[in-house]
Amino acid sequence: MNDKGNCESCGRKIQNTVFDKCMYCGEVLPKHQIFSENEKETILANQKQAELDEAKVSKSKSNNHFGRDGGVFYLGGDSGGSCD
Ligand SMILES: [Zn+2]
Repeated sequence: MNDKGNCESCGRKIQNTVFDKCMYCGEVLPKHQIFSENEKETILANQKQAELDEAKVSKSKSNNHFGRDGGVFYLGGDSGGSCD
């Protein structure tokens, strides 16, 4: 994992961030605690993936709900039609 240690100003853990500052106190991080362009790309990709996963979960949830209701409704309509 990308562990940059603690902020020299406030002592809190450096988070995975694409900013070159401490997210807690705003202190500009020393060079060895700033994430490289490569690492920033990984962080951004991970964040994007997490957002996609979240969207997928909520989407499949509503899809399941809709499909269930639709299936029950369709079955009822079909049997009524063959009776005709
Ligand atoms: Zn800090």
